[in-house]
Amino acid sequence: MFGPVLLAAARSDGIRRFVSSTPVTRPVVNRFVAGERLDACMENVRSLTGRGLDVTLDHLGEDTTDRAEALRNRDAYLALAQALAGEGLGERAEMSVKLSAFGQALPDGGHDVALANVRPVVEAAAEAGTTVTLDMEDHTTVDSTLAVLADLRESFPQTGAVLQSYLFRTEEDCRALAGEGSRVRLVKGAYNEPASVAHQHKADVDRAYVRCLKILLSGKGYPMIGTHDPRMVTIAQELARRLGRKHDEFEFQMLYGIRDSEQSRLVAEGHRMRVYVPYGTDWYGYFMRRLAERPANLGFFLRSLATR
Ligand code: FAD
Repeated sequence: MFGPVLLAAARSDGIRRFVSSTPVTRPVVNRFVAGERLDACMENVRSLTGRGLDVTLDHLGEDTTDRAEALRNRDAYLALAQALAGEGLGERAEMSVKLSAFGQALPDGGHDVALANVRPVVEAAAEAGTTVTLDMEDHTTVDSTLAVLADLRESFPQTGAVLQSYLFRTEEDCRALAGEGSRVRLVKGAYNEPASVAHQHKADVDRAYVRCLKILLSGKGYPMIGTHDPRMVTIAQELARRLGRKHDEFEFQMLYGIRDSEQSRLVAEGHRMRVYVPYGTDWYGYFMRRLAERPANLGFFLRSLATR
């Protein structure tokens, strides 16, 4: 019931200023964000990889309509690629980017600006022995993001993308991206989407997720199963077993700070488990989406406000 309200608030500057300046927000934010600075984040990365988990790092930022800010976001990722090269973790530590942080939302030529800004990051990732996954944002960006993916994959075929099962179009996109060398993270989807393009009921989103899992796991690519849902994890394990996929031919992914013991359990069972690790100061939109998808997270936040 609160989900759509919180997702609308995620894009409101006024509410952003209020929530960001309220000191009690900090401890709640720290549950989901691995630090404001790269060095703090790298400490967390060492701890996670020491526990056998792989990581994908997200320098927080999105919805930029300022060219200079898009360049600053690009530079933050270039610094991150350099830090990862120093860690020598190879593909155990990759990067996730939101193209809207790279200029995709600019009214004039945003698609081309985002492509020009993300390309050096993908090159730097390859030099560091790792790769990049393009996060997926609201439905208006999907065509542009998939076109950027296709362009990047001509030189860097290991570049990954995210598909969201709540969109009607996604089964078709899964089929198109189930080929050799393709890396797809399948998620349910975190934005407020209209009924004209997306399933509105959880049961329909879950059923679509399973259909997409079947397509990706029976294809030739590398599926990355991004969910905290125990039912989806069990179904994915069963499908992978039936389809003869070995444990290193797909991976699970979960967000930093969510279901830590389940993350460790999957590693102990021999699965690849990658944690999505966000860091940086621009945490507002990410944080609000986490509140929107789970009432328990919202309750925790409201209780900390009430006990100030
Ligand atoms: P839900 O349907 O939200 O929950 C199902 C069940 O999972 C719950 O009933 C509960 O049992 C369990 N569960 C869920 N959350 C918790 C929790 N916090 N604690 C304990 N149990 C829990 N979305 C995008 O739109 N674009 C992206 O690029 C994107 N990237 C993502 C990357 C990763 C690695 C992950 C894991 C998610 C990403 N998402 C992205 C978010 C995603 O779309 C969903 O909003 C989010 O994962 C919630 O859906 P769910 O599959 O976890 O299950």
